[in-house]
Amino acid sequence: MTHFPAAEILSVGSELLTGETVDTNAAFLAGELTRLGFEVTGVRQLPDDLATLRDAFAEARSRSPLVVATGGLGPTHDDVSREALAEALGEQLTRDPALEAALRERFRAYGNMPEANLKQAMRIPSAQPIPNPIGSAPGWWVDLDGRVTVLLPGVPSEMRRMWSEEVAARLTARFGVQPPHVRVVKTFGVGESALAERLGSLLTEPPHGVRVGIYARDDGVNVRYTTRTDAAAADRLAAAACELLESDAYGTDGADLADIALHALARRGARRLATVESGTAGALAALLSDAPQESGLMLLGGLVLPAGTDASTAPAAPAADATLCVDLDAPDGHGRSRVHVWLDGRPSVQARWVRVHGSGPQRLRRAAYAALDIVRRELR
Ligand code: ATP
Ligand code: MG
Repeated sequence: MTHFPAAEILSVGSELLTGETVDTNAAFLAGELTRLGFEVTGVRQLPDDLATLRDAFAEARSRSPLVVATGGLGPTHDDVSREALAEALGEQLTRDPALEAALRERFRAYGNMPEANLKQAMRIPSAQPIPNPIGSAPGWWVDLDGRVTVLLPGVPSEMRRMWSEEVAARLTARFGVQPPHVRVVKTFGVGESALAERLGSLLTEPPHGVRVGIYARDDGVNVRYTTRTDAAAADRLAAAACELLESDAYGTDGADLADIALHALARRGARRLATVESGTAGALAALLSDAPQESGLMLLGGLVLPAGTDASTAPAAPAADATLCVDLDAPDGHGRSRVHVWLDGRPSVQARWVRVHGSGPQRLRRAAYAALDIVRRELR
């Protein structure tokens, strides 16, 4: 057995294939499995169809030592994940008296249990039940022929609770996995391709055993080094990238742009900060209030003005010694929007224009991060 076993994720539910439900379970599980030390090699969304699911279980199990499926454990006729896995393994479903008793107990408070729920007490011989403290569907842990298949309910709160209370620790023990070593360099103000060009071999020629990825997020472009074998090399690469990128890199790993800007303001003597923003629907105030409040700076709150309003015409907050102002213009025809940013008071920063890309909430958050980045750069 390798130390980074392959894992596949199956998301069951016809509503995932019609766009009615966004598959957040797969995103959650992919992140969790990767952090535990598995290599996620595939994610599939599948309809509530017995034959399709049976084949999908069989295929995934033939390829990968771990398969984690969510959904299809409900009481209705279209929930067939148990039946499908039973068929794939050639095992018989029978009613488990202990599971039935637990279900009846769970329903006692509400009156009689609907007979349909008895389905959720069915089990194959190889399945160990995974308790579900907040729902009626128990999960299944099936460890057979050297392969593990885990069935979890589709309801995200139930799935996450069972994952963190039961499944994660069992998987770690069963597979002996170790979390990979991850270093992230966080940058702002440079596009992905320009950044890639500047990084050169730090991006294209990582040493053996280190993987590198670059991806854009709302708080800038991240460069990510992952390794399972050579932590020192990943640390060296991250440090070299930070040095090369100078002020365009604002930190590593958990660095938070809002937190950094708040500390910069506090260092320069600001005690009470207000914000005025237009066109951003309050994205700046939201980011600041979500940031760790450890700088000693007091957030007085913010004015949120409709798009098109000039933030400089807003009345100043009387108790503030610094007011961060952001005007976000409407996007142009190429998906870019101009952002006007300045800081009034003590300290102050002269107005400047920057550009952000994107649409929807991402565009608003990027404008807010752009304002925080200007504060960080100017008040270093
Ligand atoms: P339960 O056993 O708790 O009754 P289930 O296993 O039958 O649930 P589904 O009926 O498939 O699960 O889904 C229940 C709800 O959970 C869906 O209506 C949907 O809102 C949510 N859900 C299901 N799958 C996903 C998913 N992959 N990502 C996000 N939400 C999901
Ligand atoms: Mg379902």
